[in-house]
Amino acid sequence: MFDRYNRRIDYLRISVTDRCNLRCIYCMPAEGVIPKGHADILSYEKIATVAGEAIALGIKKIRLTGGEPLVRKNFLALVEQLKKLPGLKELTLTTNGVLLEAMAGPLKDSGIHRVNISLDTLDPEKYKKITRGGDITHVLKGIDAVIAAGFKRSKINMVLIPGVNDDDVTAMKRFCLEKGFILQRINHYSLDNIKSIDRNYIAERPLKCCSCNRIRLTADGKLKPCLFSDLEIQLDFNDLRESLIKAIEVKPESGTCNSSRQNWQIGG
Ligand code: SAM
Ligand code: SF4
Repeated sequence: MFDRYNRRIDYLRISVTDRCNLRCIYCMPAEGVIPKGHADILSYEKIATVAGEAIALGIKKIRLTGGEPLVRKNFLALVEQLKKLPGLKELTLTTNGVLLEAMAGPLKDSGIHRVNISLDTLDPEKYKKITRGGDITHVLKGIDAVIAAGFKRSKINMVLIPGVNDDDVTAMKRFCLEKGFILQRINHYSLDNIKSIDRNYIAERPLKCCSCNRIRLTADGKLKPCLFSDLEIQLDFNDLRESLIKAIEVKPESGTCNSSRQNWQIGG
């Protein structure tokens, strides 16, 4: 489906949980967050129903994100349900990689096509600081497990944080070359002001609004037409098609400000 500005919307990002096993400095508050209760988040059945309707409207690619998607119980069951949906061309995952060592093989077998792993530095101490306590060895083992599982075109997402990891880019490039990963640099931003996107660095993300092809589904069942906007469409399970059409129709030409949610509540 095309939006009002003639952009083809064919990409749905689904946040499956607002819980996370890290507390990255650019994403979550230091004191942690109060996660939603199970009753307040969409069941896997409901997520798959929304995905099916979205595909009928022209969505070709779905990315599973979070919070940290791999912390949600029985995550593979969701992947298996989505995988069965006819018309879905690509099913991908964005993860912090902490739980990938054990899960990479099963994820490949269940039907995930490609994986993006978030890693902002190779320095264990700096990693611990950025993630507020994370242990990089888990992520590095997860990366090797992704390679061993046979995933292709995997990416490393690196957020460029001014004054913190700008000097890590060369080492990250070398690491990705060695591992056969693509380095995707992301300019740091605050959701409450699109002008906060730090364009001082050359980076692959965020995309310019004119080439945005996505809508988002939050774990608590809201459709977000734009990351940098407070607009939200409550899903109506009696007419999901209409909810999705509405979300695409109100997608703004460009983002401005999102003061109601943080990245961990949307999925980046
Ligand atoms: N927990 C998973 C992870 O970290 O990969 C998935 C969710 S996370 C919100 C998705 C992506 O958003 C990650 O690559 C993360 O680095 C990025 N992100 C989070 N906050 C950001 C910010 N303020 N600026 C730029 N990218 C951000
Ligand atoms: Fe968790 Fe991902 Fe946010 Fe880091 S960026 S706190 S891993 S959701």
